[in-house]
Amino acid sequence: MEKILISACLAGDRVRYDGRLAPLDHPLIREWKKQGRLVRFCPEMEGGLPMPRPPAEILRGPGAGGLDGKIRIKTVQGEDVTRAFIKGAELALALILRKNISVALLKDKSPSCGSSRVYDGKFRGRLIPGMGTTSALLDRFGVRVFSETQLEALNLFLKSG
Ligand code: SF4
Repeated sequence: MEKILISACLAGDRVRYDGRLAPLDHPLIREWKKQGRLVRFCPEMEGGLPMPRPPAEILRGPGAGGLDGKIRIKTVQGEDVTRAFIKGAELALALILRKNISVALLKDKSPSCGSSRVYDGKFRGRLIPGMGTTSALLDRFGVRVFSETQLEALNLFLKSG
């Protein structure tokens, strides 16, 4: 049965930057959990960041974007946390390759896990189209990344496979 890489915060783990819980309560999640499909992972914690931690955003300066060595991620206090984010993304990739996982359910709007929107890098609460570091890397390697608003689409994808 196909496994699903899931953002650990959506699975109920206390890993968010602000220390709050954000479990995704949905019948499909309960079903997948019962089936043993869910593989929990938090790229930011695995990348070595603490909890709680200051919020971070992807900077969108000239030439930034993608995991091409130009991306820069900073906390609201100006600390460069790019290396931790890249490490978390690479560990997520290693995990899905090791476990032969081809689908992920990741928390949108996160600078790691976002798959359709991320904050604009200016810490003013404005979202722009884009992917977080982990979603972008997994997507590049052919993993189908769904967000928490796409559970039905993910379910159809699993059934079609
Ligand atoms: S990095 Fe991903 S899994 Fe970790 S707290 Fe943020 S959204 Fe959740």
